Amino acid sequence: MTRIETLAVHAGAEPDRETGAISPPIHLATTFQHGPAGERVAGYEYQREHNPTQARLEETLAALEVGAAALAFGSGMAAMNGLLESLPAGTHFLYPRDCYTGLRTLANEFLPERGITGSAVDMADLDAVRAALRPETKLIWAETPSNPLLEVADLAALADIAHGHGALLACDNTFATPVLQRPLALGADVVMHSTTKYFGGHSDVMGGALVFAKADDLHARAAHRRHVTGGILAPFSAWLILRGCRSLPARLAWHCRNARALAEMLAAHPAVEAVHYPGLVSHPNHAVAARQMADFGAMLSFQLKGGREAALRVAGALQLAINATSLGGPETLVEHRASVEGRHPHSAQNLLRVSVGLEHIDDLRADFAQALSRA
Ligand code: PLP
Repeated sequence: MTRIETLAVHAGAEPDRETGAISPPIHLATTFQHGPAGERVAGYEYQREHNPTQARLEETLAALEVGAAALAFGSGMAAMNGLLESLPAGTHFLYPRDCYTGLRTLANEFLPERGITGSAVDMADLDAVRAALRPETKLIWAETPSNPLLEVADLAALADIAHGHGALLACDNTFATPVLQRPLALGADVVMHSTTKYFGGHSDVMGGALVFAKADDLHARAAHRRHVTGGILAPFSAWLILRGCRSLPARLAWHCRNARALAEMLAAHPAVEAVHYPGLVSHPNHAVAARQMADFGAMLSFQLKGGREAALRVAGALQLAINATSLGGPETLVEHRASVEGRHPHSAQNLLRVSVGLEHIDDLRADFAQALSRA
């Protein structure tokens, strides 16, 4: 059983041993019976350390990413922080110049207080990555495709660079999911997810995860840190994300088909200055994306010739697509990133990011066409 469609349905999905229930029970217990000297009866002790619903999710995530072990967290940021904060003081790491704002904030505000420093680099430029390495660089953090510019990094090449330097490679695989890209198979050591997005799939659950290539010391330290600092996932949330896993490949296929068609339509529109979508042959790293991804995902961003005002007019004129942050749900979401990135926005003022949903593509195209007529 190695094909992802089959794994998604069956990994961690054995019928409940007690009742035969096909849908797994949600174990809400915070504490589990043990012997008089703390002997574990069924392997569990306290929900913050480990619990059966989370264990099923972690087994499924590890199988999907072809990893040895997974850890579920209460959000993507908790997972990201769970790994980055576990780096020893004095460590340096590299992260992508284009990335989710939360990572940039961690690197600029929080990690330096712990003696961990990060440098932003263009991950698509391998010479720039090599040049940015320092003796104390212990981790390269990739995010590919990146948020919100859909920049693509060559994971196999980055793994070689990291390992040649005695460093680790971690990859935020939120945009691609293991259905489209498996970083561990390309040489990465750790994969991170915001399971809030495509895994949950319905805009109704927060979660995060780390998946490790080996169940080694790095995994043990991250598990210990999660246990003690408490950034855990609630069992009901674990159950919802587990349910999302079962339909992930089927949803992704439809998402990708819609995204490609919308990207092509936008690229041909006279009001559009640029479309960022790795599935377009005009994307600067299309060849790398085609090599390492099974399809190109359902996130895209585009820039309007008419600047900030045109971008806001288009966002405001959409009737089907909803103005909201986040991604990976059934509904198409649009966001003017510069407006939500705080006082010093990273994104261009004329850029709109789109999470392409599961609507009929003709309805989506019609909605974007009428909105673009106001650009
Ligand atoms: N990584 C990426 C690529 C994201 O887009 C996000 C959220 O949008 C995160 C990490 C953070 O995840 P969460 O919102 O679940 O904490």
